[in-house]
Amino acid sequence: MSVLEIVRKVADLRARTAQFRAAHATIGLVPTMGALHDGHLTLARSAKLDNVRVIATLFVNPKQFSPTEDLAAYPRDEAADAAALERVGVDLLFAPDVAEMYPENFSTSVAVSGLTQTLCGAVRPHFFGGVATVVTKLLLQALPDRAYFGEKDFQQLQVIRRLVRDLNIPTAIVGVPTIREADGLAMSSRNAYLSPAQRRIAGALPQILQETVAELRTGAPAAPVLAAAKSRLHKSGFDRIDYLELCDEQSLQPIPVARPPARLFAAAFIGKTRLIDNWPVI
Ligand code: AMP
Repeated sequence: MSVLEIVRKVADLRARTAQFRAAHATIGLVPTMGALHDGHLTLARSAKLDNVRVIATLFVNPKQFSPTEDLAAYPRDEAADAAALERVGVDLLFAPDVAEMYPENFSTSVAVSGLTQTLCGAVRPHFFGGVATVVTKLLLQALPDRAYFGEKDFQQLQVIRRLVRDLNIPTAIVGVPTIREADGLAMSSRNAYLSPAQRRIAGALPQILQETVAELRTGAPAAPVLAAAKSRLHKSGFDRIDYLELCDEQSLQPIPVARPPARLFAAAFIGKTRLIDNWPVI
């Protein structure tokens, strides 16, 4: 049985990873913001299969929240997260505080252009800069052989793949398929915000997206199919829809008709809770 060790300082993380490397152990990294569910734990299990040592990180990154977003309310339970990570055999948890990650006069940010301008980037302009900066730091701090990210945040996965390639960071990025609840809702720490009635509405999102994917696969023009799907989302109880788009999954640019590699992307609110999801089309 593994015993999970928790470190909070970059220097301590570096000392442990140096020992792992001296023992010729491969290292897998699983970055998270905590409030762990089976989606996160699936990333950790994938990392266990591929690597000798697995490091998870827990850091609620203030740089990826705008002042009006849910940073203060974001669910936090380090003890439960640590117990769950220990159960799946994670070796080390890096849980720095904000001052450790962003010391006074922190002045550098990582910006990935193009891929960050569409979908979530268009409506959350601060978001991918925050993600790219913190992920670059975590990769350079741990220097893992592989790092694991969920396809649930597909745009984030593509942004991270691009920054690792562009900056020659020597880590392989591994994408892990979305883990879902029984009714198809993508697992998310933010699902905890939903009331029971809202949770019932949320189940309509994967259902409508799957039906929309089936229609798009027939080669139908996307615009009317997407318009009909948006109106179904509203009728099911969704409030604002940030986007529902058929895109090329490499460029993340909208395409008028499905052709490989096409993916359907959605972001919509129920009350104040914003849900995102995506499904491969062809
Ligand atoms: P977060 O804690 O929300 O920042 O997520 C940490 C990592 O877990 C990211 O790579 C996410 O894409 C991934 N993740 C979150 N939810 C899921 C899910 N339902 N299935 C697979 N991966 C997920």
